Amino acid sequence: MQNKTHIMNSYDVTIIGSGPGGYVAAIRCAQLGMKTALIEKYSTLGGTCLNVGCIPSKALLDSSHHYDDAIRHFEDHGIEISGDVKVSLEKMISRKDQVVAQTTSGIDFLMKKNKIEVLNGFGSFKDANHVVITKEDGSSEEIETKNVIIATGSKPANLPFITLDKERVITSTEALKLKEIPKHLLVIGGGVIGLELGQVYRRLGSEVSVIEYMDRIIPTMDKAQSKELTKSLKKQGVKFLLSHKVSGLSNNGTEVTVTATDKKDKEVTVTGDYCLVSVGRRAYTDGLKAENVGIKINERGQVTVNEHLQTNISNIYAIGDVIKGPMLAHKAEEEGVFVAEILAGQKPHIDYNLIPGVVYTWPEVASVGKTEEQLIENKVAYKAGQFPMRALGRSRASGDTDGFVKILSDAKTDEVLGVHMVGARVADLIAEAVVAMEFRASAEDISRMSHAHPTYAEAIKEAALAATDNRPLHI
Ligand code: FAD
Ligand code: NAD
Repeated sequence: MQNKTHIMNSYDVTIIGSGPGGYVAAIRCAQLGMKTALIEKYSTLGGTCLNVGCIPSKALLDSSHHYDDAIRHFEDHGIEISGDVKVSLEKMISRKDQVVAQTTSGIDFLMKKNKIEVLNGFGSFKDANHVVITKEDGSSEEIETKNVIIATGSKPANLPFITLDKERVITSTEALKLKEIPKHLLVIGGGVIGLELGQVYRRLGSEVSVIEYMDRIIPTMDKAQSKELTKSLKKQGVKFLLSHKVSGLSNNGTEVTVTATDKKDKEVTVTGDYCLVSVGRRAYTDGLKAENVGIKINERGQVTVNEHLQTNISNIYAIGDVIKGPMLAHKAEEEGVFVAEILAGQKPHIDYNLIPGVVYTWPEVASVGKTEEQLIENKVAYKAGQFPMRALGRSRASGDTDGFVKILSDAKTDEVLGVHMVGARVADLIAEAVVAMEFRASAEDISRMSHAHPTYAEAIKEAALAATDNRPLHI
């Protein structure tokens, strides 16, 4: 063990954390001519998103989707398989690991290309201009810096009475590397993680029971989306206990029993062999020694920032999951670019209303702008146009007929206020809605644009026609 402290280099900006917020901030700072350091405690770059989040979960969703197609849908398309279709979970997970490795090594390349100094170790504040990097062997280095961007991200949240043994009672991180397919996976929390990873294991043959506190899954999205996704997932065999508050959990090493109370305070128990706890994530500032500088952290553990994403210490900024707002990779990336440009004296802008949200189940779910519930709550007069995917030739051709596109527009001006979709590939379709809303398009503007035929995107044009003056063409 060495404990020597060496005075090292001096930087214009030091970023703590290499997730999509941190590494993108580093690239933009370097592009703008700043001498940039990026500190990461893990040996691979990319943070939650690349290592244990967006990328590995999508790799498993894609792999399990292929299997599901083979066992449930090939026959509909006239494809016969002689012999059993088998899953090797080990191979599926190792493919996912390769995808992650390729993606994180891509970030190493980008850091080199942009001449960003990557410092491996745990970053903590000595004072506002000095950061200490503690390495695994206990040695430490100190750097001097004009500015700091905190991009330390988040960790899974837990319920106070649950012990995560990470074997049977697990978070998303362990769910991405299980050694066996659960017989019965209990999922606490019907949000994004619970549904995406629940669907992976349902497709692979697990019984999946989702226990959700609210009266609907994905409760922050438009109610119509919750309803449609519930219907689809139920058809796929996922079971739901809605309006059930989890109040206890016991784990004997092979079986996990979750106790929950329903609206009438009736207690129910469900037993499975694994339990995924997916009740949200918490901002992560452990060990950062923010107190050495007096950085304000709110009651939810988030670093407090102003409209410039600046903390109460003028040369220290924070971005991504560690601050308020949706915990999304693309939100963190926008904020990384934003802070870099602020530091360069520019006047960047982020419209938080136009950060899209996506759930990568199948059918996919995607949203931007206000939900119908928000418009009602805020007493905004609006028009709604909805078009079902099943009415599209493209959907019938592929067999993906679940879902819809719903467009909400201002009753007087026709400006699009929100777009909510469920269906095949809507994760990609939502970009059209974001562009339209960034340019403050009306529903009529969208309805007058040519959309290639046959595509799923035609549902957007049809929903816009329905919102403009209730004249969809194909229903
Ligand atoms: P993070 O990605 O959490 O990165 C923070 C980094 O900081 C980590 O590498 C951490 O090791 C490092 N760090 C922390 N403290 C220190 C320290 N003191 N010193 C040095 N290093 C430190 N979002 C989407 O938009 N789309 C998705 O499909 C999606 N899927 C997800 C699936 C799962 C299973 C999970 C868990 C999350 C998913 N997310 C998704 C959310 C997304 O991963 C996060 O919003 C995103 O990673 C946040 O980026 P960040 O840069 O703020 O923090
Ligand atoms: P979430 O906030 O999406 O969902 C948590 C769910 O748990 C909510 O529906 C909540 O009502 C429920 N819940 C809370 N306490 C409960 C209790 N005691 N009993 C039963 N249910 C309870 O959180 P998550 O799914 O854990 O995901 C964490 C974050 O990661 C999210 O903020 C999300 O933005 C991000 N993420 C994004 C994606 C994506 O963009 N596709 C994918 C995965 C994760």
